[in-house]
Amino acid sequence: MSVLMEIQNLSKHFSVESNFFGKSSSLLKAVDDVSFTIHKGEAFGLVGESGCGKTTLGKIIVNLYSPTKGSMIFEGKDLTKLKENQRRAYCKDMQMIFQDPYASLNPRMTVGDIIAEPIVINKLLPANKVEERVTYLLNCVGLAQHQRNRYPHEFSGGQRQRVGIARALAVEPKLIVCDEPVSALDVSIQAQVLNLLADLKDEFGLTYLFIAHGLNVVKHISDRVGVMYLGKLVEIAPKKELYANPLHPYTQALLSAIPIIDPEKKKRRIILEGDVPSPINPPAGCRFCSRCFKEMPVCKETAPELKEISPGHWVACHLFD
Ligand code: SF4
Repeated sequence: MSVLMEIQNLSKHFSVESNFFGKSSSLLKAVDDVSFTIHKGEAFGLVGESGCGKTTLGKIIVNLYSPTKGSMIFEGKDLTKLKENQRRAYCKDMQMIFQDPYASLNPRMTVGDIIAEPIVINKLLPANKVEERVTYLLNCVGLAQHQRNRYPHEFSGGQRQRVGIARALAVEPKLIVCDEPVSALDVSIQAQVLNLLADLKDEFGLTYLFIAHGLNVVKHISDRVGVMYLGKLVEIAPKKELYANPLHPYTQALLSAIPIIDPEKKKRRIILEGDVPSPINPPAGCRFCSRCFKEMPVCKETAPELKEISPGHWVACHLFD
């Protein structure tokens, strides 16, 4: 598979004001020196707890945030070096499906108009062809043409997420960032939306960056998986390899948290102690140090680098130095 996007040393730091001890400002390192590639036609799963920086990373990719530093090479161009108006020309190629289908659709527009809007704004089709395309897209996501003139509040959560998917597909993007697209839906609907996304990927050869909380959600849809902790990528591997042979202690803990029926395996559940440290002034050494069950003296002092341990399997942990 050829590389679609190469992310190199990408960081996003937010300035945070504090009034506790007089007015001062600190840096919140939401994404800190992250590097990985997304290949054409793959689904790259990105997993981690709330606040680990995965959504911020997705928003940088779709140009909702500017990175503090680093580069994003897309089709040979470093998007971070382009002027804002030049970069906007690439926005159509990177679309996002949002976590909350309730908040991400304009309540004053019909779903047909919501889907048509990006086609019209980007002048992708002559005016007399737009409706035909809207009907086609509604059909692709399992909605009927007669629903075109209804408003978002007339749809269920799963149907609204289907509208969000149709809107993302409308401009034929080269990369779709799916930001926890099923986490706000009923469990009974989650599998339907995941299956729809998997079918659309096969049908149109789509490329996904699929963001999720837990490894169970990305298991079926991803080709490769990256695990994030406190703004850093700690492990990347092909899906089968990651689930069969997780190397980073955090990945091992996440995997052990997937509910399983086998009572023997249940005994091996890893319970992490302690809270995630603040991304403001994160620990100097390994960021997972305060919760790691395999911590060594070196871990507190030196941050481990992400290294390739076997072909395609990268891990940031001193156990593999
Ligand atoms: Fe645990 Fe040390 Fe590895 Fe960090 S570097 S995950 S603290 S063993």
